[in-house]
Amino acid sequence: MSKHQNKGNRNRLIDGFGREHSYLRISVTDRCNLRCFYCMPHEGIEWLDKSKLLNFDEIERLARVFVSMGVEKIRLTGGEPLVRKELPRLVERLSAIEGLKYLSMTTNAMLLEQYAEAIAEAGITHLNISLDSLKPDRLEKITGRDCFDPVMKGIGKALAVGFPSIKLNVVMIAGVNEDELFDFIEFVKDKPVNVRFIEFMPFRNNDWNIERVLSYKEMLERIETRYSLSPLKAEPSAVAKDYALTGAKGTVSFVTSMSDSFCGSCNRLRLTSDGSIKSCLFYPAEVSLRDAIREGGSDKKIEDLIQYCLGKKPEAHPPAEEIAAAENRAMIEIGG
Ligand code: SAM
Ligand code: SF4
Repeated sequence: MSKHQNKGNRNRLIDGFGREHSYLRISVTDRCNLRCFYCMPHEGIEWLDKSKLLNFDEIERLARVFVSMGVEKIRLTGGEPLVRKELPRLVERLSAIEGLKYLSMTTNAMLLEQYAEAIAEAGITHLNISLDSLKPDRLEKITGRDCFDPVMKGIGKALAVGFPSIKLNVVMIAGVNEDELFDFIEFVKDKPVNVRFIEFMPFRNNDWNIERVLSYKEMLERIETRYSLSPLKAEPSAVAKDYALTGAKGTVSFVTSMSDSFCGSCNRLRLTSDGSIKSCLFYPAEVSLRDAIREGGSDKKIEDLIQYCLGKKPEAHPPAEEIAAAENRAMIEIGG
C-alpha cells in the first residue's frame, strides 16, 4: 500500500454539517456462510443476481475516485467478504491505490484459516473478526451454523500470521451472551487483541427490542467489578471507547451506537455490494454509482453523485425505536 500521503489532496468529502469523510466501507458481497439472527432477517434475503454486483474493475475505479476525494481508509465487508471469489486479488488492487493509508476487513473467520496469509500478503493490515460466543452450542444458535471449530482455527491462523491490528467484534445481547463478558476478557488477556463489545442495533426483522440492548455503561460497570480498566486516548472520529486492561496484552472497547451515538464525528460512507452509496447506516436513501458507471458516466459524474449523497446525510440517526420501525435494508445487505 502506498505510504504516501495524498499531498495537497484536500478532503472534498464534506457534508452539510462540516463533517469530513475519510473512511469508506465497501461491501463486496451480500452472501454469507453464516446466518446470525441479529444481521440476517428471519425471512432471509433475496440474494442479488451476480450481474448486479460490482465487479473488481468497478470496485477499484470507485475506490480510486473516493480516495482522490479524501478517503484514506477502506474496510472490506459484506455479507462475508471471504466468500467473494478471488478476494485477495481485489485486496492487492486496492492496496496499490496511491493515497490509501489503511486497508482493513471484517470477517466471520469461517474461511480465515485458508485465506489469512493471502490477504495479509495482499495488503490487509487491520482485521476485525466477529465472534459472539466462546461456547460452541451457543455460537451455533446465534449463527445458525455449527461453526465454532473453523472460526477458532481461523482466529488462531490470524494470530499466527500476525496482522498489525486484530479486533474481536462481539455483539452483546441481553439474555443471549451477556454472561460471557468476563470470558471474552480472559480470552484476549494474553493476546494482542482488542475485544469490542458492540451494542445490539435494530435492523429489519432481527428480534431487536430495547430491553435486549446491553448498554456500554452496564457492561463497563459489570467488568469493573472484576478488572481494572483505564481509558485510552481516542481519535476524534473513533466509534469505540477504548480501555487498557491492567496487566494484560489485550484491550477492551465498547461500540456505543445505541446508548451514546457518535454521529457528530461520523466520517464514514458505505458502498453496498450492488454499488449504491449510503451516507448513513440508518438512513435508507441510496444513490447507485454502479448504474452511473454502466451508463458510461465519467469520474466527474461519479463525484457529483457522491456529493449529492453527502449533501443528504442527516445530522444524526433517529432514536433506536424509530430506526427499528423504519424501512431499511438488513445489515447483511448493507455491509456492517
Ligand atoms: N460477515 C462479516 C462478519 O460477520 O464479521 C462482515 C459483515 S457483518 C454485517 C459486520 C459486523 O456487523 C459484524 O461484526 C457483526 O457482528 C455486526 N453486526 C451485524 N448486525 C448487527 C446488529 N444488529 N447490531 C450490532 N452489530 C451487528
Ligand atoms: Fe454473516 Fe457477518 Fe451477518 Fe453473521 S454478521 S450473518 S457472519 S454478514
